[in-house]
Amino acid sequence: MITTAQLISKYGPPTENGSPYLTKLTLPYPMVLSWDKTVSVNSISCHKLVKDNLNTVFNSILTTYGIDEIKRLGINIYGGCFNYRKMRNGSDWSRHSWGVAIDLDPDRNSLKQSSKTAQFAKPEYKAMIDIFYKNGFVSLGREKNYDWMHFEIAK
Ligand SMILES: [Zn+2]
Repeated sequence: MITTAQLISKYGPPTENGSPYLTKLTLPYPMVLSWDKTVSVNSISCHKLVKDNLNTVFNSILTTYGIDEIKRLGINIYGGCFNYRKMRNGSDWSRHSWGVAIDLDPDRNSLKQSSKTAQFAKPEYKAMIDIFYKNGFVSLGREKNYDWMHFEIAK
């Protein structure tokens, strides 16, 4: 997994408003906000260097699952991408500060959950996680068996 020094050298220092590295990605299917599922999300802000990766991820998910399965499985539940903040232990910048990480369906894939309880640890999500890997991301669930909601750029 990528270190903070590697992140800064490749993606620049994190900034509060994401300038100058944030860009907008129009999603191939709408998502909903995890904290208000009546709100539709049609585009997200991410780092310009991962925009193409994420675009391919979402297009591949759409091709692989179809929109009905995406909704049924909750893959369309958006938990955030760019968010300028420290990690929960406070020692380092969250990968979300660069907009190179994305959270999906956080309520059912929380920090406390492991492969025994996390939704994304179930077999029907393996194809989705493989798609993230194929496009340069890692899953903290698969790597560390916590924070299954979280996918971040590998390098
Ligand atoms: Zn995250």
